[in-house]
Amino acid sequence: METIGVPRALAYYTYFPFWKTVLEGLGRELVVSGTTNKAILDQGVSEATNDLCVPIKIFFGHVVQLKGQVDKIFVPRLVNVNQGDTFCPKFLGLPDMVEYGMNGLPPLFAPRIDLCKKIRGWFDLAKMVAEALNCNMISVLKGFQQGKKAQAEYDSLLLGGYAPKEAMELMYTGQKGKASGAAKKPVGTIALLGYPYSLYDDFLNGNLLSKLKGLGVKVLTPEMAPPSDLYSQIRLLPKGLFWYFSNRVLGAGMYYLSEVNIDGIVHVSNFACGPDAMVNKLLELEAKKYTCPFLTISLDEHTGQAGIHTRLEAFVDMVRWRRQRACE
Ligand code: SF4
Repeated sequence: METIGVPRALAYYTYFPFWKTVLEGLGRELVVSGTTNKAILDQGVSEATNDLCVPIKIFFGHVVQLKGQVDKIFVPRLVNVNQGDTFCPKFLGLPDMVEYGMNGLPPLFAPRIDLCKKIRGWFDLAKMVAEALNCNMISVLKGFQQGKKAQAEYDSLLLGGYAPKEAMELMYTGQKGKASGAAKKPVGTIALLGYPYSLYDDFLNGNLLSKLKGLGVKVLTPEMAPPSDLYSQIRLLPKGLFWYFSNRVLGAGMYYLSEVNIDGIVHVSNFACGPDAMVNKLLELEAKKYTCPFLTISLDEHTGQAGIHTRLEAFVDMVRWRRQRACE
């Protein structure tokens, strides 16, 4: 059976259930790289060019981990999944960066995902998958139908407060953990905003989701905001951003500020990320309008867990103090 390696990075956290269903339905065995660790980060840093953002470097590290273990590696070219914004240029050029930047890799399975033209886009994608995997179109289109169902189930679990790992455990092993956002008697509610591959990669972000939960905070992420509400917020701006994940982060921030009684925003940004420079400033300005405390945590390959935790503790203390003062 042909094996396809899936790097546990970037779009993995968003679209894995769809692709798992499609590719396994087409008779492929998937091998997912392990969770990010120091070795993976170090390998990514040594393979990628220096000025790339750390999520891309981590992706390179996961590709290295799969090298020699699989027949193909899945490196999708994500262009567009709706009729508006596109993915950041790094996503658009990802298969090229990997193919021309790394040696000794097996062939890439790199479908171009551009769903801007809706049905036509899905048809073109099915054609690419059928050609790349030598399958017939009917079975690919059937696989897409099944994949969309799995994806809808996954998305609704994320919306209900499950982190990707918990949602996948629930879907694939039936183990029902507690939703991530849940905290018994929260000392406050914090919107934790950032791209999924930054928020849910525990090694990259120093386990900050668990840390916040441990501090007794109720955490809301962009995945827990209804997509329609999030885009309604973006339409209030004179102009939305060009990039898909950036609009989701900004829209979630605006939604939580205007519709939910949050006590603070923590924006997890990535050093050397062009889109994040704009998202961070816009979020800060929005937070200011509501006099909502705002903290930026910038990630790169040198970010230490201790530094992140100290800043989070100080931020949560301040949130707690503000709450107490408001009750007096
Ligand atoms: S949006 Fe930013 S962090 Fe994400 S891949 Fe692009 S440059 Fe990197």
